[in-house]
Amino acid sequence: MPGYDVVIRGGRVLDPANSVDAVGDVGINGGRIDAVGDGLQTSAGGHTIDAAGRWVIPGQIDTHAHVSSTGDDGSVDRALGLAMLAESGTTTCLDLLGSPESLIDGIRRRGSGINVASVLGLVPHVTLPSDDPDVATMRDVIADALRRGAIGVKMIGGYHPFTPDSTAGVIAAANEQTAWVAFHVGTKESGSTLAGLREVPGLLGNGRLHVAHINAYCRGVILPREEECREAFEILERVRGQVVTESYLARMNGTNGLCDEDGNVVADVPRNCLRARGYPTTDAGMRQALLDGYGHAQVVQDGRVVLVTGQAAVDAWQAAGTNAALSFPVNPAASAFTLATERYEEGGEFRIDAVSTDGGSIPRNVAIERTMALVSFGALEPLDAVRKLSYNPSRMLGLLNKGHFSQGADADVTVIDPASGRATTSLVNGKVIMQDGRAVGSGGTWIVTAAGERAAGESGLPYEVLDLTGSQLYAGWS
Ligand SMILES: [Zn+2]
Repeated sequence: MPGYDVVIRGGRVLDPANSVDAVGDVGINGGRIDAVGDGLQTSAGGHTIDAAGRWVIPGQIDTHAHVSSTGDDGSVDRALGLAMLAESGTTTCLDLLGSPESLIDGIRRRGSGINVASVLGLVPHVTLPSDDPDVATMRDVIADALRRGAIGVKMIGGYHPFTPDSTAGVIAAANEQTAWVAFHVGTKESGSTLAGLREVPGLLGNGRLHVAHINAYCRGVILPREEECREAFEILERVRGQVVTESYLARMNGTNGLCDEDGNVVADVPRNCLRARGYPTTDAGMRQALLDGYGHAQVVQDGRVVLVTGQAAVDAWQAAGTNAALSFPVNPAASAFTLATERYEEGGEFRIDAVSTDGGSIPRNVAIERTMALVSFGALEPLDAVRKLSYNPSRMLGLLNKGHFSQGADADVTVIDPASGRATTSLVNGKVIMQDGRAVGSGGTWIVTAAGERAAGESGLPYEVLDLTGSQLYAGWS
């Protein structure tokens, strides 16, 4: 009987792609899944992980995380998120805002062994020449992002909105190049609310788009939050098959406290946060919101990003010249619940594809523990939780060798204690990167498209080439 390099023994193995929900062992050889069964033995020098009483699921994939920076978001080292994600049980993430160069630097300094793909944030005057770029410029920026190793781009409508025409132009230009294109909704004519989501079908035409964090548009800013969830579902149903989506389950958002020379809060998202509790959208309003314990600042303590409030938050905000990373408790639990659990009536597919964190360096990496809470509440079946956390994200991105335990799949595994709802061990390519909530890995595999292969080779990092034609985003696209 052959032996295995690693045997994860006696856990409840949950693999929706193969309809497996049974107590058993997972055998790993050469960094790949080799077998799922009973009584698997390690080879000489092999390593056993006792998973009795635990869940063993394909490694959790976070389709919305922040582990690098475009350089304009100030106050914390986003690379700290690589370990923070690993500590929560993530094995692969999509870095949804930064730059490839910042990501490479971060993986070298602070890598935790997780796999990372990134998109370039489109920030006027930082990564883009203007805030209303013409189509030729967008094409060039996207092609350049791919060459530098990003898998695509993201528009950040809550901070740097474009005109509707420019927004539609970015989507079309990315689609032409089969590049990932993500959108935090909002144009110059709407905002980072349900109003921005309403524009999506018109902007999209026949195109393809990752619509980021649907929960952020269901905070009850325009309509009662239940009605916003209903309308969000209706909008997404109209573009079903053209969009991929995720929502996160944390109460805290992540935003920025920047104020202009006249003392006004600059971006749409923090203004909405202040308005939600009746604070003026000025520096005085922001200061009071922080002092009152409503606003929180993201600060680094012991190599991790944590939230502080009150005077400590004011101090951090001022030290950053107001350009500080902040968080507000603006995500209603009721919307989070609805968005995470609702399905289409026919076929039973989830209306929102995945649970994400929108975390990483923002301390809210609760995808696994909150999804497990939905299971203990009876709102999700165990295999459905794994669909939301691992399988659907793998399909969204086209990481076809992840998200399942078929023989030959990448041996990325997350082990979860169902009693606490927390991940206790995780492995990437058969190597343990997290044990008992401590990140023990380093480095990490950089996921690029074929256009970025040269940059990946020059980086010296291990890399994997992703073909986005195999992604759900581009399924049936030609
Ligand atoms: Zn985000």
